[in-house]
Amino acid sequence: MAKARLTIDLGAIVANWRALDIRSGSTVETAAVLKANAYGLGIAKVAPALAQAGVHTFFVALAEEGAELRGVLGPDPEIYILSGLMPGDAAILEDHKLIPCLNSREQVEEFTAKLKGLPCAVQIDSGMNRLGIEPKDFIDLSSTLIELRPKLVISHLACADLPAHPLNTEQLRVFGATCTALSGTKRSLAATGGILLGPDYHFDLVRPGIGLFGGLPFLDAGPVVKLALPVIQVRDVEPGEVVGYGARWEALKPARIATVSAGYADGLIRRTGNGNVHLYAGSKACSLVGRVSMDLITVDVTGLADVPSHLEILNAHQGIDDLAQAAGTIGYEFLTSLGQRYDYRYIEPATPAGK
Ligand SMILES: *Cc1c(COP(=O)(O)O)cnc(C)c1O
Repeated sequence: MAKARLTIDLGAIVANWRALDIRSGSTVETAAVLKANAYGLGIAKVAPALAQAGVHTFFVALAEEGAELRGVLGPDPEIYILSGLMPGDAAILEDHKLIPCLNSREQVEEFTAKLKGLPCAVQIDSGMNRLGIEPKDFIDLSSTLIELRPKLVISHLACADLPAHPLNTEQLRVFGATCTALSGTKRSLAATGGILLGPDYHFDLVRPGIGLFGGLPFLDAGPVVKLALPVIQVRDVEPGEVVGYGARWEALKPARIATVSAGYADGLIRRTGNGNVHLYAGSKACSLVGRVSMDLITVDVTGLADVPSHLEILNAHQGIDDLAQAAGTIGYEFLTSLGQRYDYRYIEPATPAGK
């Protein structure tokens, strides 16, 4: 089989969630953000593993994602929709017991007209200027909002991965001050980066996403994904011979080149080949050479006594952020770009003691 193997360690995802849960203190609920198919890793597998570990509250971006998640999780967990209430969403929200995060005056009016009495949340724009009700409008709307009895009021930090950025404390101040118009409602400001900024940012509930999946800024995250690419062919090349499109790599001495199966159509974006990227045979690192093609990558395996059946491009030695950096992007984009053409395998979490 030429399909590459993408192995997702559900136990590592659960362990990362627990580590973030511990950082956020015992009175703070730790939710999970599983938008974009659980950051590309498969919501149907990731969500039940987290629910089993004790996660009660989930966030996704779209109502349709929420409907799918409801089907996966059953009736009990709370599922919040970050985009709020969009035209055509009301029936989906009602049918699947999804909670919209209302982002604008229009969404508040629409909710009041169509869904009043059902649970909702509200988002404040505390300075990112992406989603949420502006503080001044929030205060103007406060009597309407109080009547809706929102379960949660949220906001999102623009620079949480830059702890020293002055916008963090400014957003914290604006959020705290604006929330007073809805006193008694639970509050949530922090995603992964915000959890790491410390307890002032935690409020009642934190919403990590990337940290669950082994990505920065959660430096202590354990690796979650392993990607093993089948070796299709091995050849010897002489000095002066070139490898791959554009003849961009030339052998300076006799070399062995392995051609492995996966390429930019699988999310190993072409620019990955511009950086210092390796493929691993066990702990032995072999350089990626030449350009990444649509379905293929070429690797200098001269140093290996035996070429194994697969070479790993993602593992404990080289994670999503290493590949992302080589490609000039971030771990979030790398993960969510991983394609559908893999043989997806899941390692189930170990059953907790006593269960
Ligand atoms: C994506 C997102 C999160 C999770 O962010 P991470 O940086 O992945 O932890 C939390 N809240 C909102 C509003 C988001 O859009």
